[in-house]
Amino acid sequence: MDCRSDQELLEIVHGSRLHTAKGKVADYIPALAKADPDSLSVAMAFPDGNCYSAGDVEKKATLQSISKVVALALALLDNGEEYVFHRVGMEPTGDPFNSIIKLETTKPHKPLNPMINAGALAVTSMIKGDSLDERLSRLIQLCELITGERGIGYNEEVAMSELETADLNRSLAYYLKQYDVIEGDVEAVMELYTKQCAIEMSCVGLAKIGLVLAMDGKDPLTGETILPPRVASICKTFMVTCGMYNASGEFAIRVGVPAKSGVSGGIMAAVPYRCGIGIFGPSLDERGNSIAGWDLMEQMSKKYDLSMF
Ligand code: GLU
Repeated sequence: MDCRSDQELLEIVHGSRLHTAKGKVADYIPALAKADPDSLSVAMAFPDGNCYSAGDVEKKATLQSISKVVALALALLDNGEEYVFHRVGMEPTGDPFNSIIKLETTKPHKPLNPMINAGALAVTSMIKGDSLDERLSRLIQLCELITGERGIGYNEEVAMSELETADLNRSLAYYLKQYDVIEGDVEAVMELYTKQCAIEMSCVGLAKIGLVLAMDGKDPLTGETILPPRVASICKTFMVTCGMYNASGEFAIRVGVPAKSGVSGGIMAAVPYRCGIGIFGPSLDERGNSIAGWDLMEQMSKKYDLSMF
């Protein structure tokens, strides 16, 4: 059984919204602290073109870590698997997303995976283009291609707010430069990374990214290949093993679908051959996942039997 109406989703949203009060909006990026903690929106996009949604659907929010999936896809298209995984590993860390510790203790010194900040900074540095603007617009164009939406942009205030306060990410990036994982100008990588994280869309856009990944990189309506199946497969595998921070194992057991979350409260999920799911709910649990979004995913997984395991 699949979702058949906005009304069905609205009932689940009502229940999950009760959880928002137990979490906290991210404030280490000052501009993110302005988000409404009680806001919650969800969309489910299906291969037949139907898309159901409920909650504050019109609200846009920044992708934050969800952008790491699109950046990885582009870096793989630009450089190939061998190049990318020579510099970034494939293993979950079990550590917080911004941890530095395993960079020092792992030999060779390379980030363990592309979903932690260190790995994502390295991946972002691999995106090709003659200038920072060109690299960013290639990333935004890929977002537009995947979602089928035009006019996607980034939130300048959030990007600048992060760039001014990103001392920890900056130290990760300089550490990686020391070991040749990042080449070139670290400050340019920082600027591209913060702008990438500040790309904005609604929960419907997130659901459409999830849908294309769920369909092995194809646009289900046109049959057009947007991402090679291998690239979609790599993205989904990282979403299972490291997409929900250091709660990815628990999420796999409780929900059982590839998903990526971000500190803006976004969750993008790809249910293989079934649907894409997008959620924004800025109130976070202690591991950085949307607290109401996690509950929504659990409810939907049970109701629609989504787990792939
Ligand atoms: N821009 C955020 C950071 O680097 C993204 C983190 C996240 O969403 O997990 O801290």
